[in-house]
Amino acid sequence: MGLTDQDSSSLSKSNGSPEKVGIRLRYQGRVQGVGFRPTVWRLAKELKLTGSVFNDRSGAVVEIWGIPSQLQEFQSLLPSALPTIAQIISLNSEALTSSPPAEFQIVESSLHGSAFQVLPDLANCTACLEEVTQPTFDRYRYPLTNCTHCGPRYSIIEALPYDRANTSMRSFPLCEVCLAEFTNPNDRRFHAQPIACHRCGPQTHLERLDDQHFDREELSKLDEIDAAEQGRSTALPTI
Ligand SMILES: [Zn+2]
Ligand SMILES: [Zn+2]
Repeated sequence: MGLTDQDSSSLSKSNGSPEKVGIRLRYQGRVQGVGFRPTVWRLAKELKLTGSVFNDRSGAVVEIWGIPSQLQEFQSLLPSALPTIAQIISLNSEALTSSPPAEFQIVESSLHGSAFQVLPDLANCTACLEEVTQPTFDRYRYPLTNCTHCGPRYSIIEALPYDRANTSMRSFPLCEVCLAEFTNPNDRRFHAQPIACHRCGPQTHLERLDDQHFDREELSKLDEIDAAEQGRSTALPTI
């Protein structure tokens, strides 16, 4: 769904350079909790477009300004730039009459809208699995490791729109490291709502089935994790 003829007819200023126009794009489908907003942000920056993206109860809304050819490029590139888990089911566009803002931002979610597709929990992506299994990573053996491509969604959502404050993860304030990832547009945990680590996320512990003493420390620091593989202990994650 591109620009209307009416939009196209008002492209040129008297000096011949294309005039910036604004459109509002409402995306519905699997567009929350899948890295949609960060992808929009990155693409908009790349194409030098300004505006904003936010979630509402019906999906994601992009308000964007630029010259018409850039806006069309944005719309055609976005579907293939999204993480594979994302799925656009419908798109409505309308012209905006206000003047263009100076930059592109991810803004707070709006409570408007009605229909919403709740996402299922997603199995760990390969990047997160690598972090969990390699001792060199900070999240080595942290069982609730996740990012915008994977992790819990359905099981933590308590209200809409899908923001951390509306999930059971709101009880776990982010540590400095997680906060840096959460706010870095170039990080794959940018706006990953369930983000967590050993320092700030929910903790798990092991219990021995044979009732012998067990030091209940962080899962990653315990060599006894290997006991789980032998059926002697079990991990009890809670969110
Ligand atoms: Zn991941
Ligand atoms: Zn953390």
